[in-house]
Amino acid sequence: MFIEPFKTGVDSGWIEVICGSMFSGKTEELIRRLKRAQIANQRIEIFKPAIDTRYHETDVVSHDESRIRSTPVTASQNILLLAEDAEVIGIDEAQFFDAELPNVAETLASKGVRVIVAGLDMDFQGQPFGPVPALLAKADYITKLHAICVVCGNIANYSYRTSADEGRLVLGEKDKYEPRCRKCYHRG
Ligand code: ZN
Repeated sequence: MFIEPFKTGVDSGWIEVICGSMFSGKTEELIRRLKRAQIANQRIEIFKPAIDTRYHETDVVSHDESRIRSTPVTASQNILLLAEDAEVIGIDEAQFFDAELPNVAETLASKGVRVIVAGLDMDFQGQPFGPVPALLAKADYITKLHAICVVCGNIANYSYRTSADEGRLVLGEKDKYEPRCRKCYHRG
């Protein structure tokens, strides 16, 4: 269970990363934290890569249909321009951002912003995904969530691609991926 740190002053920003495989509940956890900040009247902004339009143009929507309004951005640097006076910034689908995202998060945190980033830590080949590994290195707090293996019921860390598509960036949900444990992932 993640215990939220609390702000002790204007300059105390930090980076939280929520990572894990597909279907592990990363976006739900991001939304949960953001909604609680919202209830406390903190100014929040949410960003996602413009590439991810699976559900809705401007909402971050999780698999369980909870949603929160977000701004799609094409480059991570744009977050600095758009974030202006937000106290808490949420970033979803971090794996699809460019390599500048960890520096952007660091810049925001050093300005006193609480930065909450959610993203896949591994791609469908089990390799570290985009800027997420560097974000994990720079993070103050890390939450690794797990799904349940659809084959055997163990804890699942891997996003197994069930479709024949070859590219790294194949957007999809239950039609194209399923969560699997280490053993079932490698069994193929
Ligand atoms: Zn399994």
